[in-house]
Parts: sequence; structure tokens; C-alpha cells
Amino acid sequence: MRIGIYPGSFDPMTIGHLDILKEASTLFDTIYIAVLCNSAKNPVFSVEERTEMIRKVIVAEGIENAVCESFDGLLVDFARKKGASFIVRGLRATSDFEYEFQIDAVNRHLEPRIKTIYFMASPEHSFLSSSNVREMGHWGGDITGLVPEVIRTTISERLLKK
Ligand code: ADP
Repeated sequence: MRIGIYPGSFDPMTIGHLDILKEASTLFDTIYIAVLCNSAKNPVFSVEERTEMIRKVIVAEGIENAVCESFDGLLVDFARKKGASFIVRGLRATSDFEYEFQIDAVNRHLEPRIKTIYFMASPEHSFLSSSNVREMGHWGGDITGLVPEVIRTTISERLLKK
């Protein structure tokens, strides 16, 4: 069984995250999309809201081998628990590269058997981030096409109330 983990904050999930999830789902028997419970990042959406939204997207998109769970603590511990040999991440600009390079070094140090693979963001989504979506949504901007359609209204309504 080839098992992958796609970790992130997903605060909230965007169409860019969905692209990566779809691509990764073709490579693995099971792909876990793992929502980090990280209070230091001060997320807008609770971990329950984020996982519930991602689960809706998985069903709507019919990605049968994707499973959404939340995790706390070290990613490599979660990956070991799930029997995963690969971590999946997305790369947009060079700024992502700097950050990913550091995280990769830490994860390699902790667990050299788990490898990280990277998918390049599609050009049309390379400037899309959860923080853009949060900012636009908060001020009532239209986020159609930036987040998966099945969770768009939930995200817009929630951001307006923020
Ligand atoms: P984190 O806080 O771990 O960076 P994010 O939810 O911001 O969590 O991102 C999770 C992963 O998805 C990261 O690898 C990030 O580079 C990638 N990602 C974010 N937005 C996009 C996008 N528009 N296209 C492709 N990958 C993306």
C-alpha cells in the first residue's frame, strides 16, 4: 500500500489545495489530507470546520481514496501512525521554496525514511492563498472560483461574520 500525507493549515481550503489533492490522489492508494491543529497560527476556521469542509469537498469531487483527519504534534509521528512513506506539499513562488526547504530538513532529520514530494502550483493558482481568500471574504469580495464551490457559501458567510 502506497500511503501519502498532504498536511497543511487549510484555513480555508482553496482551489489550489484541491488541485494538489487531486494530483496526489492519482499517485497513492490512500492520501490523507491532514489538518494541523496549530493554535500558534491563530486560524480563523476551527479545526472541526476545516476538516468538515474538506470532507464535503472530497465527497463532492468523488476522490475516493482521500481521507481528511486533523493532527497535532509532529507531522512525522502522524505519518508513521498512518504508515505513510510520503509527504506531499505544493510549491507556488520562491518564497514557498525557502520555507519548504527548512521544513524538509527538519522532517528528514526526524525520520529519513519519509520523503517529501512537491507539486508545482498551476500558473492560474500560483498567487492564490488561504490568506487572500480570508481577506477578500472578510470585506465581502466575491470568492467564486477561488475555493471549491461546495464550500463557497459556508466560507463567505463565516468570513463576513469574522
Ligand atoms: P501551511 O500552513 O502548512 O503552509 P497551507 O494551508 O497554507 O498550510 O498550505 C498547505 C500546502 O498547500 C503547502 O504546501 C502550500 O504550499 C500548498 N498550497 C497552498 N496554496 C496553494 C496553491 N494555490 N497552489 C498549490 N499549492 C498550494
